[in-house]
This record gives sequence, C-alpha cells and structure tokens, in this order.
Amino acid sequence: MKNFSLKAAAWLLPILMGMGANAATAASLDYWRFNARLSRLEIVTDIDVKPTVQLVANPTRLVVDLPGINLRRPPAEKKIGRFVKEARVGQFTPRTVRLVVELGHRYTLRSQDVMVRGLAPNRWFIQLPKLLALDPSAAPQTDPIAIAVPDAKVATSPTDGVPITVPNPSSYPKGRVVIAIDPGHGGADPGAVGRGGLREKAVVLDISRKLAQFLAKNGLQAVLTRNEDLELDLAPRVAIAERAKARIFVSIHANALSLGQPGVNGLETYYYNDGYNLARIIHNTILRSISVSDRGVRRARFYVLRKTSMPAVLIETGYVTGRVDAKNLSSPNYRTRMAQAIGSGVLQYFR
Ligand code: ZN
Repeated sequence: MKNFSLKAAAWLLPILMGMGANAATAASLDYWRFNARLSRLEIVTDIDVKPTVQLVANPTRLVVDLPGINLRRPPAEKKIGRFVKEARVGQFTPRTVRLVVELGHRYTLRSQDVMVRGLAPNRWFIQLPKLLALDPSAAPQTDPIAIAVPDAKVATSPTDGVPITVPNPSSYPKGRVVIAIDPGHGGADPGAVGRGGLREKAVVLDISRKLAQFLAKNGLQAVLTRNEDLELDLAPRVAIAERAKARIFVSIHANALSLGQPGVNGLETYYYNDGYNLARIIHNTILRSISVSDRGVRRARFYVLRKTSMPAVLIETGYVTGRVDAKNLSSPNYRTRMAQAIGSGVLQYFR
C-alpha cells in the first residue's frame, strides 16, 4: 500500500464526462495527462479511437489527434518544465480533439524514437525518447513528420496486457456483470517491498489475473485496470472502471511494515462509502477459505474508494514484511487460492 498517493510530479486532468447518465452516447476524452517523470502522454477515451501522431518543427512539438472525440471541456494547458515545455489540449475540429506536447526551444527528438502504444483500443501511451539538444546550425525541418501508430490490441487473453472480456452465458444470462479488478502499483512503482525482495506489484498482479480468470469461469466479466508491469496513476484506474460500467471495484494490494516487524501478518479489507457490504462478504469468505490472520474490515479514504461510483473495496491481502504472509504470498499456489477466495466472495455478493 506504500506510495498510494498522487505523485507531485504528475499532472493530471481527469475529465469524467460520460460517466453518468450520458455514458451511452458520449464520445469523450475520459482522461489525459503528460507524465513528466516518465516522459509519457497518457490518454483514455470512452470509445475506441485510432490516434494520429505527428512531429512538427519550430518549436518541436508532438501533435496527437483523436478523431471522433469531443473534449466537452474548455481547452487547457499546463507548463511542464525545461525539456518539455508544456502540454495542452483543445477541440481542433468539431470532431477531433488535439493534444500537443511542446518541447523547450533548445530540444528536439527523432520521430522514429517516439513509441505509440495501444494498451487497449481506448487507452494509448505515447512515450517520448530521450531528448536531443537542438543544433542551431541545422536547417529547420518544415513539414510535419507522421509517426506510425500501431493497431491497438484487442482483448483476447489474460497475457495481452489489455482488459479481459470473457462473455459466458451460463450464470448471468440477464446482461453482463462487469467487475473492475485493480492491481495496485506497477512499473516504476513497486509498491511495498518485503522479505526476500518480495514485491507488492508482482504479487497483486498475479492474484488479480487469477481472480479475473476465476470470475470469467463463473460467468462474470473482469476488466483489469492494468494487466502488465506498468505504472498507472489512480485517476485512470477509476476512469477505466467507470468506462466499463463496472458493478463493483476490487483493488488488490499487499501491506508492509518495516522488515523488523515480521510478526505482523494478516488480511485487511477497506471500504469507504457503499462498499461495506462487499468488503464484509469478501473478507469473511477469504477467512473461511484460507488460513490468514484477521485484521479486520476497515473504513479509509483511499482515492480509488472515494472516486469510484460503484461499491469499491481495497484488499490488503497480507504483509509482504510479515514472516507468515511473505512466505504465503511468495507461493503461486497460495496466490491462486487467495484469488479464488476473493472471487468466491464476489460471487456471494451477487447471489
Ligand atoms: Zn499497495
């Protein structure tokens, strides 16, 4: 649960349009930001989109167009720093949102080094390379350079790095029930690091994938906020769940104290608003299913619990610094049983 806050360096502008009653008709930008620390532009839209990306000179700037998208907000800009000067967004044409990342006047980059990555057809990362000092004597490039955009992946399997969508008519024939599963941390943020270097981000991703598989087998659709070792802020995690119209939100974490406190072990389940019933059922189902100490169901103001519109829980599956929990959480078999126990609680909740 370490580091579970918005980072100072991060600038984000969650645009939560289309999350209420209009969600069915809106085609909007749910979220975007330029992540200065990772030099990455991040975009989540509420429908599938194929961006076009180009590099334009004088000053060097990356121009990203999102066809078919409405901003539904006033244009915005944000100063970033010396290397990347600013990022801005506006409605370029009535049907196209344009995002611009402008470099400082002494810097440039090579278009072939820009990586455009579709995590899903509505989630894109545009990764800037290391910037180069501009050579003032070089002839200025005048025409925009198009940057190749790959096809976004389509959700097919748990290993694709995209949300899993597995329809199964057996248990819930009346409309789909979508469960948002949120593996904490990821990428440069390891979360808690415990005994033997056990890392929260890896433990919780494995449990989350197994939980998604378990739910799919039982007729529920699971959408993972991340399905790979990838850093993701809190606002897009919420945006992904809202966009999927998830009925519940289940955030998976592991806890930590100092390594000098190996005696503290156990399960904690958190809720904020309307998640109490869900928290209680999942917590008790886990305690009945596997041997883990009970540290209680607790109320806490965690961002993902407060900002989600559906019942939400955050499960601290154990202490990576605890002697007993660390040994258990290191075991793939235990993680499978933890995932199944959480999943059984979810099924119980909908029964
Ligand atoms: Zn955590």
